[in-house]
This record gives sequence, structure tokens and C-alpha cells, in this order.
Amino acid sequence: MGLKVYVNGEFVEKEDAKVSVFDHGLLYGDGVFEGIRVYGGRAFKLDEHVARLYESAGFIRLPIPLSRDEMKKAVSEAVDINGLEDAYIRLVVTRGVGTLGLDPDKCSDPCVIIIVDHIAIYPEEFYEKGMEIVTAATRRNIPEAVDVRVKSLNYLNNILAKIEGKNAGCVEALMLNHQGFVAECTGDNIFIVRDGVLKTPPANAGILKGVTRQIVMDLAVQEGIPLEEVNMTRYDVIAADECFLTGTAAEIIAVVKLDGRPIGGGKPGEMTRKLRSRFKEMIH
Ligand code: PMP
Repeated sequence: MGLKVYVNGEFVEKEDAKVSVFDHGLLYGDGVFEGIRVYGGRAFKLDEHVARLYESAGFIRLPIPLSRDEMKKAVSEAVDINGLEDAYIRLVVTRGVGTLGLDPDKCSDPCVIIIVDHIAIYPEEFYEKGMEIVTAATRRNIPEAVDVRVKSLNYLNNILAKIEGKNAGCVEALMLNHQGFVAECTGDNIFIVRDGVLKTPPANAGILKGVTRQIVMDLAVQEGIPLEEVNMTRYDVIAADECFLTGTAAEIIAVVKLDGRPIGGGKPGEMTRKLRSRFKEMIH
């Protein structure tokens, strides 16, 4: 049986899940989204993802036609209907069908889409050996433009950086903010470890406030690991003892090289391993 997709209150076959070419989500990237993992048949950290979705929508003044509870119920239904134990949910809300002009007030009702599908994570080898990344020339958008804390359908900035990473033979790329400080990767937050202290760029450094980032920060507190949210440069990353990325899809993955320079001897570090195993315990 094929996968079923939720589109505006109805479950339809994957092949029949379609939106209008006049939807402003398509025409202008006018909308917001979330990526959520399903572990053991349940949506993981659903409250946190739904909260971020509504916060993003609020910022762009997009009224979501469901209450938070209705949204959580719809997501859970989508998970149950598809019967997948380990999966990835893409929750999308677009401005809806409108005219060929920017005006969001000329759009009909917002469109809500919930896709539950299989997840393709990085090869297991990357988790064991760590991965290599490069710094992209494309910077994060300035906060005076669309604040990147809004998880909007405008991901071109990240896609350009991703292309740069791929050109260099990497699957991820590091992005700096407009001030030249380390922000995050194209779809993951970044952490470093230096002299036993766990460090990550602050929320106003041009990052998406990752749900997995928060989990790692909470784990650090539980484990008594000193934690700092501080600005850092490329130098700090290269000179770190350890570096890892966090994200819903990636979970926790070690970075062992930046721009050709090995980090921490070029091997995943102890704290990364420890946090990853604590994270694994949490999801199982
Ligand atoms: N940064 C960006 C730009 C992202 O798109 C994502 C998630 N896809 C993350 C960080 C990680 O956030 P989360 O842990 O909530 O998935």
C-alpha cells in the first residue's frame, strides 16, 4: 500500500497529493515548514516542532487554520495511517492559492500538508569516522532581512551553500553570518568542544534554534558538562578538540575536518560519542 499524504484535512495517495501552481508557497516561497522524526512509531519532540512552526508562522503573519492540538492530532494521525516505525515527517503550511502578485491578502486559505516518508540519513560510516565539511562563501541572511529563526520555505540561501559543499566533495557546508562568525551548517546546528567546555553559537548568530541543539544543551546540563553559547570563528572550529553537528535528520554527527584542516586529530571525540549515545538512549 502506498504512502498517504495529508492535504488540507484529507489523506490522499502520494501520487494524488498536489497543490495549485498558484499557491504562493510555490510562487514566492511564502510559507513555513518543519522536519520531525518518527521513532518507534511516534513523532519525536512534536510539541517543540509544532511550537516552532507556529512561531515561524506568526512572524510571517500566516494564520494556521488548525489549533496546535488539532495540528498535533493531524500529525499523529498521519504517522498512524502510514504505519512507519522510523520515518521523517515534513509539515508544511503555505500561504495558499493567490494571484500573480505578492499580496498575501489575496490568497485564499493557507494550505496544510503533512508528508510521512522514509528517511535517508548519512551513511553509517560518517557516524563512525566523522565527516568533512567546508566553509561556504554564501553567508547567512542578515537578521534585518528574514530572520533565519523563521523556518520558512525560502531555503535558497542554504541550497547555494549546500551546492558549494557538494562542489568540494562534502555533504554539508559551514555557513558564517554577516559578521563573519560561525552560524550553522545548511541543515544542522554546530557545536565544538574545547578544554572540556561545550560551545555553540548563540540564537542571534544567524541560526535556526534547532530542536536537537536544545536536546544536546539539556543533556550537557544533565551530564554536568560546562556549556557556553558564544560567538566563534572558523579558527575556533579548527582549533577545537571536537566538533559535531545536530539536526532532526542527522541527529548527532562528528565533524573531523573543516576546509582541509583536521579537527581533534581527525577522529570523533569522546564527548561527541557520549552525547550521541545518551541521545540514542533517549530515542529508543
Ligand atoms: N539549521 C537549519 C538551517 C535547519 O534547517 C535545521 C533543521 N533542518 C537545523 C539547523 C536543525 O534543527 P533541528 O534540530 O530542529 O532539526
